[in-house]
Amino acid sequence: MAALQDLLPGFQTVGGDLYSHGMVSMHGGNLSVRQDTNLCITRSGSRLGYLDQSDLIQTGINKDDPNTKLASSELAVHRAIYRKTPFAAVVHCHPIHAVVLSFLRDKIVPSDEAGKLFIPVVPVIGFGIEPVPGGFPQEIAEVLNSYPVVIVHGHGSFARGMTLAEAYAITELLEISCRILYLLKK
Ligand SMILES: [Zn+2]
Repeated sequence: MAALQDLLPGFQTVGGDLYSHGMVSMHGGNLSVRQDTNLCITRSGSRLGYLDQSDLIQTGINKDDPNTKLASSELAVHRAIYRKTPFAAVVHCHPIHAVVLSFLRDKIVPSDEAGKLFIPVVPVIGFGIEPVPGGFPQEIAEVLNSYPVVIVHGHGSFARGMTLAEAYAITELLEISCRILYLLKK
């Protein structure tokens, strides 16, 4: 299992990129990586743009321990993804144009070239249902077996990959595609 100091640079890079690109507010969003039967996830209320080692929480994928209560409020979703998929990293954030479109439609179909290639269809989970933190864990995990990224209606995106950098890249593609759709009024 990787030590926290070895994981920290990857979390800091992705957290800093999400914050500087406006895809999370100061205390919004969360990141995790799989570690065998555990996961390492950002602390509840942590600032993704300014993470330090105390913001990385290791806890079980299948069982609670004393660290569990420190973890992000979206822990249930991250756990479900590691239980139901082979992926090793999850990025959750609130990209503005993606969230706007999730209020309006039950799936996003990019029209730009990169979007069409890498994320041709992005399902919107819980369309029309009031979102709650940690909601829809089973649905999100199930759908991420077939799609690289999903959006929870009125809330934000969950992207998966084998690394945080990969899940971040998918998230950025999503927001660019949604911004283009929004500007095109498509
Ligand atoms: Zn959120």
